[in-house]
Amino acid sequence: MHSWQSKGSGGDVPSGRVEISDVRVAFGDTDVLYGVNFDVAPGEIVALLGPSGCGKTTLLRSIAGLERIAGGTISLNGKEVATNRQHVRPEARLVGMVFQDWALFPHMTVEENVAYGLSRSANKDEQVAEVLALVGLDGLGHRMPSTLSGGQQQRVALARALAPKPSVLLLDEPFSNLDTGLRVQVRAEVHALLSGLGVTAVFVTHDQEEAFILGDRVAVMRDGSIEQFGTPSEIYEHPSSAWVAEFVGDANFLRGDATGMSAMTPIGEVSLSESHVGEVDVLLRPEHMTVVESESGNGVVSNVEYYGHDHMVQVDIDAGGRLAARISGNPGVHRGQRVSLTSDGTSCLAFSAG
Ligand code: ATP
Repeated sequence: MHSWQSKGSGGDVPSGRVEISDVRVAFGDTDVLYGVNFDVAPGEIVALLGPSGCGKTTLLRSIAGLERIAGGTISLNGKEVATNRQHVRPEARLVGMVFQDWALFPHMTVEENVAYGLSRSANKDEQVAEVLALVGLDGLGHRMPSTLSGGQQQRVALARALAPKPSVLLLDEPFSNLDTGLRVQVRAEVHALLSGLGVTAVFVTHDQEEAFILGDRVAVMRDGSIEQFGTPSEIYEHPSSAWVAEFVGDANFLRGDATGMSAMTPIGEVSLSESHVGEVDVLLRPEHMTVVESESGNGVVSNVEYYGHDHMVQVDIDAGGRLAARISGNPGVHRGQRVSLTSDGTSCLAFSAG
């Protein structure tokens, strides 16, 4: 494995730590970020995930120093770099940035692109060769960007950002320019590279799958603030709100009447993971449902979707509404069939009905 010693390391402060405390950003009179808090440990990969316009890019640009903040504090490696009074310029923050469109200089060779951010030094050529080898582009240094594939251009952008040995790498929708097949491959390569190097990275995505695959932790953002920050499994299994539950995966919600650790719903009684009393919305993930043919059942199959590794069975239930069950292997039911749809017995999360 390569070692990637950041220029920012040394002394008592570990490199690659990001601390965001109560950060506020406004454009004119409009607040775009409200009191954002999160931290990134050295070597950790954090995804900023959220719908379009929620403020992900603004937060990333604020960390880079490309936006000024109106309140709160941003610290990198234990040093304050932004408050409402102080603004350390981007070049002095030791961060590398990979943009959505990669922003390569079309008139420069691969080597010249990568060398761009490096200061004049005796071993500049060596540094460029080292980082090109690191991203698997050795031998392509003399090529022009236009002669490279999308995946290779993406790696040039990554090499250019890594060349100055930043303490933190910031990536804005780094895979969105690639078509589906290539995106999966490049994503896996970049993931292996960043984890192997132990680089601290923060990346923006609106794709839940991408955030969960790459992120050690994920900050789920909505309307200018962080709705939940945690590991992918914490967020999927213990979403902090019904909105997060729906945003991070397929979710069925059933209105229920809770009496402690269980609730009566239109598909029968389900057990709850926490005690509730009164009207609740019960979260039932499709993988926690079973469906069997039954003349005296509670619904009719409206569709069966085939995904190879599993099937999604959509059922219109008699009480109203459509629910989905994810069944591995052959579901044994077909469209139009009367079925019984039930919980598999897993304890479910519930949210007070509002
Ligand atoms: P997307 O996924 O669509 O890129 P995002 O979550 O990254 O969205 P931002 O680009 O951070 O969202 O934008 C957040 C809000 O701030 C949006 O309402 C946007 O219109 C607004 N905004 C962003 N940059 C500026 C600017 N320079 N001036 C004024 N408003 C801006």
